[in-house]
Amino acid sequence: MTRQMIRSGILLISLLCFPVTLFYISPYLAVDAAMVGLVSGSVLLYAVQFAGAVFVGRAFCGWIMPCGGLQEACFSANRGPAKGGRRNWIKWFVWGPLLAAIVLMLVRAGGVLGVDPLRQTRGGISVMDPVGYMFFYAVVGTITVMALVFGRRAFCHYFCFMAPFMILGRKLRNALRLPALQLAATGGACVDCKRCTAVCPMSLDVPAMVRSGRPESAECILCGNCADACPNEAVRLGFGRAATQVEAPTAKQA
Ligand code: SF4
Ligand code: SF4
Repeated sequence: MTRQMIRSGILLISLLCFPVTLFYISPYLAVDAAMVGLVSGSVLLYAVQFAGAVFVGRAFCGWIMPCGGLQEACFSANRGPAKGGRRNWIKWFVWGPLLAAIVLMLVRAGGVLGVDPLRQTRGGISVMDPVGYMFFYAVVGTITVMALVFGRRAFCHYFCFMAPFMILGRKLRNALRLPALQLAATGGACVDCKRCTAVCPMSLDVPAMVRSGRPESAECILCGNCADACPNEAVRLGFGRAATQVEAPTAKQA
């Protein structure tokens, strides 16, 4: 079984479980719980994502996240690359107010009074009634339309409020030069066939990353697709010490 088969299988299972897990990523419930001094399951998840990113970067996006599986299921309809550049900054303007609201509400409530990981779930299951399913399909529909209109994993690029937690965790790792999951490159082995970029779900210009000798990008989700597609093993996925962080260019719109 190949690495990508395993990854796709995990993403499919995660997507099928999305009605169960939806509330555990909910930004609304994070703020709602903070208003009464409670830490929701979603805030706990954000903390785990930040800490986990120190060791595995954004692999959570590439291997586990149901939204990722949903967007990759849209590739058969639109494989066009999502434009990066300044658009990638939009998610920071979603994340900033969310984090500020959580902190402000906790302060107003007098601090952290407790933890409520199952908030508004029924027995741990998020979506159980028609209203819940209306909300669920609104979320799924929004992410799907973005992938179909703007290209591969457009939601991850532009609006994911969880990505900044992981990007910051990765930056901390790079600053401390800790061993972690990462891409390694042998620039001289690259023949610029661009197979890696063609399969990159984040539409990154992988050959440019490889030639730089620093295959690191805040948008890389460490899925390993580029490594599996490269005929010359010019790029590989494994554990190692930090390379210098660079912002990778996004592949041009096909
Ligand atoms: S650069 Fe490689 S590991 Fe990173 S997102 Fe693209 S295909 Fe996945
Ligand atoms: S697939 Fe390998 S050889 Fe081809 S462009 Fe990418 S890194 Fe270079």
